Amino acid sequence: MRSAGRHFLQIPGPTNVPDRVLRAMDRPTIDHRSAEFADLAHRVFEGLKEVVGCSGPAVIYPSSGSGAWEAALVNTLSPGDEVLVYETGHFAKQWSEIASRLGLLPILIPGDWRSGADAQAIAENLAADGERSIKAVCVVHNETSTGCVTSVPDIRRAIDATGHPALLMVDTISSLGSMPYSADEWQVDVTIGGSQKGLMLPPGLSFNAVSEKALSASKHAALPKSYWSWEEMIAINAKGFFPYTPATNMLYGLAEALDMLNEEGLPNVFARHGRHAGATRHAVEAWGLEVQCNNLGDFSNTVTAVRMPEGHSADAFRKIVLDRFDMSLGNGLSKLADKVFRIGHLGDFNDLMLAGTLAGVEMGLALANVPHRPGGVQTALTALVNESA
Ligand code: PLP
Repeated sequence: MRSAGRHFLQIPGPTNVPDRVLRAMDRPTIDHRSAEFADLAHRVFEGLKEVVGCSGPAVIYPSSGSGAWEAALVNTLSPGDEVLVYETGHFAKQWSEIASRLGLLPILIPGDWRSGADAQAIAENLAADGERSIKAVCVVHNETSTGCVTSVPDIRRAIDATGHPALLMVDTISSLGSMPYSADEWQVDVTIGGSQKGLMLPPGLSFNAVSEKALSASKHAALPKSYWSWEEMIAINAKGFFPYTPATNMLYGLAEALDMLNEEGLPNVFARHGRHAGATRHAVEAWGLEVQCNNLGDFSNTVTAVRMPEGHSADAFRKIVLDRFDMSLGNGLSKLADKVFRIGHLGDFNDLMLAGTLAGVEMGLALANVPHRPGGVQTALTALVNESA
């Protein structure tokens, strides 16, 4: 049966694609070896670098975020290299599994999936690595599976305090364009990004922003690579072109999305995400439910994972919300399957969309007979009113 009105896509990415971006993509594809294309390419590279806060090259791949994870590793490392990964949740684990499949030796520091990465634990591992076998520290800035953020400056300081030369690689797939980030200021060597979350595009583009140190490492990195290789890509990108057929229409969309972020102003975009995350947590607290992230200060501004009371199924609840209100909420991943649901509040999103989202959750809780106190929506609305935009 047809559902009237727009679907509410409140998973933590892909996010709702604004009409302006859709319209920008709805244009004839042009010759990717033309001067017109080079203008577009230069525009998106410059715009993307501003969002990432990097002065070095930004590489754009026609792939999902996982491609950019792989690219970061194969361009900088050699078979048998150790990489230190902090297990913030599902995505950190996935990244370390990719490293393992590529012939690297990941050291996974266990985490409880309820906080960001522990800088102290990273420092201890690096300090114990007298042989300097660890070549990279890999951290997920915003762990989408748990709604916990890692303080990248803390990780940077921890690495520097040990004097360890490992590269710092940061996954910003669900934070870029939504939360403050600066690759240069935080001295991140490879930043990994994706199109489908804060950048408000459909899935299909991913990014590596590369520091001087990572570029030097790439000169002697021996893992096999071709499609992902930075070398040819960066050389040709400088002229406004790609070594293979680029995703032209996605780049139209990216140019538009970058314009939109600039029109609003990045500080305002970040503040908007902060307000919405805060209001969401107020609602969860008022319902008497628990947020997965339990470390004050590590709360994500883009996604809130909510724990289901014991004996209740998060997936059954999500199904009710989808069937009754045409709203998709994020599922629990790996060990959190069926135990949490995730509310995405990122991208092209405003107060009334949040109000609708939280109303759908509150009605769903009632319909699914999940023990809770009503009134979370009202609490969130009050928070939005009191904390003016
Ligand atoms: N890293 C994070 C933090 C993510 O949230 C995701 C996907 O949601 C990925 C990596 C994997 O990206 P993709 O699914 O686009 O390959």
